[in-house]
Amino acid sequence: MHEMAIAEGIVDVALDTLKANEGTIIHAIQVQIGALSGVEPEALHFCFDAVTRGTPAERATLEIETIPMKGRCLECHQIFSMEQYRHVCPHCESFAVEELQGRELRVASIDMD
Ligand SMILES: [Zn+2]
Repeated sequence: MHEMAIAEGIVDVALDTLKANEGTIIHAIQVQIGALSGVEPEALHFCFDAVTRGTPAERATLEIETIPMKGRCLECHQIFSMEQYRHVCPHCESFAVEELQGRELRVASIDMD
């Protein structure tokens, strides 16, 4: 379950940011997660609750925004949304497809005091 490591990474970023801003409590953390990152939001929520216990982020809400997958065809240059694990251009059926987004894993914003 790599969600535990991801949750720890998110909380590390949040706590560092809290310290840098001389804050005392984290209310919410917004994260962006690509559809292809392989992260299960439910598992991430579970791990987040576990790793925030006893920290200033203990009562924080984890808000997950899923970033849909998008690709660009290298043959006909069209941009389209891709289905998971299917890298075929829907316009010309080329397999020469470049991923534009869908593997994001980042902290977008942190709500703190
Ligand atoms: Zn194409």
